[in-house]
Amino acid sequence: MDFLRPASWEEALAAKAEYPTAVPIAGGTDIMVEINFDHRRPEYLLDLNRIALLREWEVGEEVTRVGASVPYTHIMENLRETLPGLALASHTVASPQIRNRGGVGGNLGCASPAGDSHPALLAAGAEVEVESVRGTRMIPIDEFYTGVKRNALAADELIKAVHVKNATGPQQYSKVGTRNAMVIAVCAFGLALHPETRTVRTGIGSAAPTPIRAKAAEEFLNAALEEGGFWDNGKVITPSIAKQFGELASGACNPIDDVRGTAKYRRHAVGIMARRQLVWTWEQYRGTNGRTLEGAA
Ligand SMILES: Cc1cc2nc3c(=O)[nH]c(=O)nc-3n(C[C@H](O)[C@H](O)[C@H](O)COP(=O)(O)OP(=O)(O)OC[C@H]3O[C@@H](n4cnc5c(N)ncnc54)[C@H](O)[C@@H]3O)c2cc1C
Repeated sequence: MDFLRPASWEEALAAKAEYPTAVPIAGGTDIMVEINFDHRRPEYLLDLNRIALLREWEVGEEVTRVGASVPYTHIMENLRETLPGLALASHTVASPQIRNRGGVGGNLGCASPAGDSHPALLAAGAEVEVESVRGTRMIPIDEFYTGVKRNALAADELIKAVHVKNATGPQQYSKVGTRNAMVIAVCAFGLALHPETRTVRTGIGSAAPTPIRAKAAEEFLNAALEEGGFWDNGKVITPSIAKQFGELASGACNPIDDVRGTAKYRRHAVGIMARRQLVWTWEQYRGTNGRTLEGAA
């Protein structure tokens, strides 16, 4: 196995163009497991660790740009206000050691349906910035996951950053596992309220071949909130709305039985997480807006 160590982003892109089968290594917390267990023996490893720009982030007015190799720890510590869903998801990844090494670029590169960043990125709304010697393109997060552990990257492309919409409302993320740390999700759910567009977005992890959104649940909730004037009057979400939202989220799942859990359990747990997160985020929305909402129930 040859080890390519580009000193700059340009050198990395040139190396990927010359050796399209080269496997990038960032934190190494996914790829080294595969190599150590002999599940994969790439001809070339392309080490991205000398490239400082991959570890930079920038908070813009509407969007935050997170470099592909920004470790989860930095997201938790520095981006909690602007990207609360992604910060919560980062917090659930593995252990402090893994969170100091691993980042969103590696999670996207791996594209496991169980990756924790995916539901948060889907719910917040994100685009993946990818580049090759041919140029740059932005891939909407909804189009990024193309199959089980497959993504939309071409063989000569690298992930440079992910652009995530800054939160304008409450966001939540939760994950079911057999314990609180060092656990791959049995299933996961993320929810983001977008008051500026009066919409909600969701993300489901580990309950379908790829990370997905619960689109029917979103559409139902968007209509129910609009019809009931909820965004303006700040009423409490009715139990029937929360229940139906949970049921539709559950219905979006297309899970399998595996060592971590059964399909039936995953569907059930996603429905519960969706219902609870709706109540939590809505209560937070009502709380932060309560002072300006006349006659809030
Ligand atoms: C003990 C343990 C526990 C874990 N627990 C969790 C968990 O709870 N939740 C979770 O989501 N994950 C977990 N993981 C998996 C892993 O930590 C994450 O997927 C992490 O985000 C990977 O990031 P990395 O930088 O280490 O990726 P790497 O291992 O360096 O790379 C992962 C994949 O992405 C590709 N890649 C990396 N960077 C780029 C780039 N810039 N452009 C294109 N491709 C790229 C690599 O080629 C490889 O295919 C765990 C891993 C271990 C070892």
